[in-house]
Amino acid sequence: MSRLDDERIIGLRVWHLQLPVISARDHGIGRVDHTIDIGVLECQTTGGINGYGEASPWAVFTGSVEASLAALTRYMPPHILGRRLSERQSICRDASQAVAHCTEAKAALETALLDATGKALGVSVAELLGGAVRTHIALSCSLANPDFDADLELVKRLQDDQVNMVKLKTGFADHQFDIMRLETLRKHFPDLAIRVDYNQGLSPYGAEAKVLDVASFAPDFIEQPVASRHVDVMRRLRTLMPVPLLADETVFSLADMHRAAAEDICDGVSIKIMKSGGLSQAQQIAALAEATGMAAYGGDMFEAGIAHLAGTHMIAATPNITLGCEFYQAKYYLKEDILTSPFPIENGNVILPQGDGLGIDPDLDKVKHYAVQSWHMEHQS
Ligand SMILES: [Mg+2]
Repeated sequence: MSRLDDERIIGLRVWHLQLPVISARDHGIGRVDHTIDIGVLECQTTGGINGYGEASPWAVFTGSVEASLAALTRYMPPHILGRRLSERQSICRDASQAVAHCTEAKAALETALLDATGKALGVSVAELLGGAVRTHIALSCSLANPDFDADLELVKRLQDDQVNMVKLKTGFADHQFDIMRLETLRKHFPDLAIRVDYNQGLSPYGAEAKVLDVASFAPDFIEQPVASRHVDVMRRLRTLMPVPLLADETVFSLADMHRAAAEDICDGVSIKIMKSGGLSQAQQIAALAEATGMAAYGGDMFEAGIAHLAGTHMIAATPNITLGCEFYQAKYYLKEDILTSPFPIENGNVILPQGDGLGIDPDLDKVKHYAVQSWHMEHQS
């Protein structure tokens, strides 16, 4: 019997948090204002280990927080409680099959099981996922404030922090606003690496000219200009564009990745554990992207520190995610994060924590402070 066979999951706690943010943000797909909604999961074992995971939904993108919380509190617990940590893959599979979609809840479950397993074995989540191939991940911060002057102040702060990469969110206002912002950024911050993300914000009619205008500013890549269903438009834009085209909303699952490659619609993909339904699936998507010659980027949703940590361990252990990450919210967007120590960012890089499991725990006082609802489920032996 291994240590993991001794550790059974005997309790689950779930919190629905509403975390205040510092500003509004506009994206092609929708707006965020005032607060973000997340779910936090705690898996308690017989040996007193607590593993943590985070579900970070966005209603217009992956799904609603209500659906994630229902998955975590109603549909998944019968497949988790009473089982051994050594059954991690079976638990995730059974719980995933118990409820359709809800990929953020599935990501939270795998994160919590990996965190608990790492703590039980004295290894990090990255080691459980194959071992780190990198410990530093270049950080990109997204610019999506409808008040562009506030975003310019943010860029100055980022440069003071040696963060030299931004992703400009486009397509939520008119085209001239996008061009004006690109001109301003190129003029005042000539060394800044710029990526562009439309979040599906363009209609196919007239998309070509707008995308080519934006491409003339030589961004590193342009992400998801049109809705995921417009496969033919994505393919045509890719052939016209002088810069790489990334898919985001088009690729949630491994099957989506396979289809995107077969349909030849992109040069790279934004990989998010909240889309794939977990860290292992994210690694598989990255591997398939690599096999088809595509690059991969470490995207995220509107997340707090636990999800950032999970993404950091996953990217650290996934060779093909070479385009950096966007785990900026904990430091640059939330009024307060929920970790016991700050999410680690140094000199423009996210740093892989060295401790067991995720390496940093949530501060439960903060979790309770921001909770608007909570649940506690126990194994009935
Ligand atoms: Mg995107």
